[in-house]
Amino acid sequence: MAAFPALRGDLGVAAGYHSAQVEVDVRLNTNESPFPPPAGFLAALSEAVADLPLHRYPDRSCLALRADLARHHGVQAEQVFVANGSNEVLQCLLLAYGGPGRIAAIFEPTYAMHRTIARTTGTTVAAGHRGDDLTLAVDEARRVLAESSPSVTFLCSPNNPTGRAEPKHVVEQVLELAPGLVVVDEAYAQFAPWTALSLLADDVPLVVTRTYSKTWSMAGVRLGYLIGPAPVVSELWEKVALPYHVDALKQAAGRLALRLTEEMEQRVALLVSERDRVAARLAWLPVDTWPSDANFLLLRPLSRPGEDVWEALVERSVLVRDCSSWPGLEGCLRVTIGTSAENDAFLEALEDVL
Ligand code: PMP
Repeated sequence: MAAFPALRGDLGVAAGYHSAQVEVDVRLNTNESPFPPPAGFLAALSEAVADLPLHRYPDRSCLALRADLARHHGVQAEQVFVANGSNEVLQCLLLAYGGPGRIAAIFEPTYAMHRTIARTTGTTVAAGHRGDDLTLAVDEARRVLAESSPSVTFLCSPNNPTGRAEPKHVVEQVLELAPGLVVVDEAYAQFAPWTALSLLADDVPLVVTRTYSKTWSMAGVRLGYLIGPAPVVSELWEKVALPYHVDALKQAAGRLALRLTEEMEQRVALLVSERDRVAARLAWLPVDTWPSDANFLLLRPLSRPGEDVWEALVERSVLVRDCSSWPGLEGCLRVTIGTSAENDAFLEALEDVL
């Protein structure tokens, strides 16, 4: 009789990357936008969907969406690759340039999916470490890159979960030192003081990944993209993306969202001022905090263990991310910046718990 096959040995016993999904009033654990898409967006989307020939496969190359994204960023459509969330963009990158016998370099603590996707694509991880202040020292990058000679090097700017954007000179030096492709994951770019898009050039092995999940209020749609040299983009489309992998509804939604840039910029400004307000209040509490260039803050309660604080917040119907068991982040929690009312609820609950 046929039997279930054993799981691939290299997938190991490590747990996946999942945030707890519990019923609470205030959900500040996954760094989405706290605001739903503007009403005008939903009306325009319904209209666009009514006109879509859904019995046909969508435009396989997402030409119109890529042209709109290219215009938005001042690049060529050939430089834009699109997929179902930026996680899938990262997966396509590792399918193309990682894989068995190849190495991806990461600098922890950083976005955990870089390691997870390396594992599922059979790519070996070479991990460097951030310093005590959670910044990346160029000497550490030099050591890891020289020792491991990775085909892909990940940076995350602003870095999730620590919050800071990588300084431009660090990215430039990593680009000099890295022997392969450098991927700068800019899921939180709109909140940051600078973007690595400014370093792109045809002869520079750099790609920048972006998402609609945060600023654009579209985490439920699953849409992400990268901008990079045209030959890299072409290899991703031709060699690793599944045929028609981005559906017609998503292509329409992604185009319509770009009409709302001004509204999104106002939302970013509001979240940045809320972030600064929350950070100022945290400064009065018995917690360590780190500066943030994103829509979240990392904190370490000093008077009680992080996981106890996490649980006590859930009891008060506030959900944050428990990073307390992540290497390099002992006792830490990460809170997404929400609406003012949500941030107040978090601050009041935290003051009560501490
Ligand atoms: N990169 C980083 C740094 C993130 O924090 C996230 C979301 N948690 C992603 C990528 C994935 O975003 P998406 O929803 O586009 O897959």
